[in-house]
Amino acid sequence: MTETVQNKEKESEKKPGLSLTTQIGIALVLGIALGVWFPDVAISFRFVGEIFMAALKMLIVPLIVVTMIVGVASLGTPKELGRLGGRAVIYYFATTALAVVVGLIAVNLMKPGEAPLPANIQTSLQKTLGSQKGSPTSLSMKHVSQIQKAFEAHLVDGLDKKDDKKRKKAAVLAQQASASFAVTLRTYLKSQVAPKGKTKEKAAPITQAMWMQRATGALRAELVFARVGMRQTVKAAAELRARSQRKGPPLTVDRFLYMQIKKILMNPFEAMAKGNVLGIIVFSLLLGLVLVTLGARGRPALDLAESLNEAMMKLVEWIMLLTPYGVFSLIAYQVARSGWDILLLLGKYMLCVLVALFVHGFIILPILLLILGRRSPLQFFSQVRSALGVAFSTSSSSATLPVSMEVSEHNAQVPAKVSGFVLPLGATINMDGTALYEAIAALFIAQIYGIDLGLGAQILIFMTAALAAIGAAGIPSAGTVTMVMVLSAVGLPLSGIGLILAVDRVLDMCRTTVNVWGDLIGAAILGRWEQDEEGQAEAST
Ligand code: ASP
Repeated sequence: MTETVQNKEKESEKKPGLSLTTQIGIALVLGIALGVWFPDVAISFRFVGEIFMAALKMLIVPLIVVTMIVGVASLGTPKELGRLGGRAVIYYFATTALAVVVGLIAVNLMKPGEAPLPANIQTSLQKTLGSQKGSPTSLSMKHVSQIQKAFEAHLVDGLDKKDDKKRKKAAVLAQQASASFAVTLRTYLKSQVAPKGKTKEKAAPITQAMWMQRATGALRAELVFARVGMRQTVKAAAELRARSQRKGPPLTVDRFLYMQIKKILMNPFEAMAKGNVLGIIVFSLLLGLVLVTLGARGRPALDLAESLNEAMMKLVEWIMLLTPYGVFSLIAYQVARSGWDILLLLGKYMLCVLVALFVHGFIILPILLLILGRRSPLQFFSQVRSALGVAFSTSSSSATLPVSMEVSEHNAQVPAKVSGFVLPLGATINMDGTALYEAIAALFIAQIYGIDLGLGAQILIFMTAALAAIGAAGIPSAGTVTMVMVLSAVGLPLSGIGLILAVDRVLDMCRTTVNVWGDLIGAAILGRWEQDEEGQAEAST
């Protein structure tokens, strides 16, 4: 960023009136209020948020291309670039791993999925299935209808006697839940016989305790779907259950890695059209490097990139003027669409994710910033908070990227060559919030279904959750897509994804905020290290 632009910005900051950050804060509060009290109005104003998101997305690709080229060129030598790139990758991997550890500790301590079943369902389960002796051999229709009755009684509990509509809904949902429960348990019984192999060998027999544990787990999961149905529609509950049963090749770790490698080396125009940030970064980085090595012959292209870079940053400033309106509309829409009561549905799970995000975002990362970046976390927070507001309302690290670059360079004075290089990289590979969320969600699903995971499986979750976060795109709900890999790696039921989707949007907003906060802190720390290197180099000459 040139000095003239910086000066103009400072001048504009001095203008009387509310600062942009204050306006964004007000927009957040007003948006929540509108969503709660006037949901219909909030939904009809959604287009404002959509325009804002579209405007930000419009900038992502050209911004990354030019800032990467300029960043690489201003780093000077490939050696310097290698140093910064290497440090960035190591720093990002290390903080991602730290985040997964925080998530694993939180979920093991809080055990959000181990909630007991409602008393009447528990009693019915004991009476019907608990009385069988020895290994279970079948699940009769009588058992299923007992469970159905208990479910229905639970769902109508506390309902107004005259509320026929809800009572009918409860009956339908109870029927669906017991049918799905029966399918799960029958499939489980079938797993007693090894499906493949000519020997028809029997798998280890299912004991009574295992049977009850599995039944309890299946009921816990069905209860979540049924509650979604009661709060929303029967169709919404069925869709959630079906979402996770989509067919397709399983997302194994090697297939996932192969997909990532394919993303890195790709026709740049295809990468740009598909918004594949990693592919764009790699191409721009190589192009920047080559232009530097060309010397005088590369200069015209570098000058063009520099001039375009300034133009892009100016565009970002213009679009940022829309931020309060965009944030207001996006938040109002989300609140109106989800409703508050849905948040209570998986309260303990949500609390667990939020506590872990808090510990990582408000304790661990600020300590790193203080020690490694030698900056006051509070001051840094106030310098970059508009980017955090945008991350929270858009749930997209990539869409927030233009704003993150702007606040990092302008407000927090992170050297442009560092933030231009490490922020796009961070927005795609550094997702601390997503990493800890993946670990918590996987263990939560295991707890709900009553599946015990030993240390080995937890280590596998640690590795796959980190990988899934690195590979997740910076767009809304990307974490739930890569989650499939984590669940498949340890053999957890994919239907668990349906459970967590019910409350995903709110958690996505919060984890994206921590993702962007982690990127910004990373840029500040790496910027400090670069400045130290430069200081040392100057001192020695
Ligand atoms: N929405 C997140 C992001 O853009 C990714 C995720 O779904 O966790 O950073």
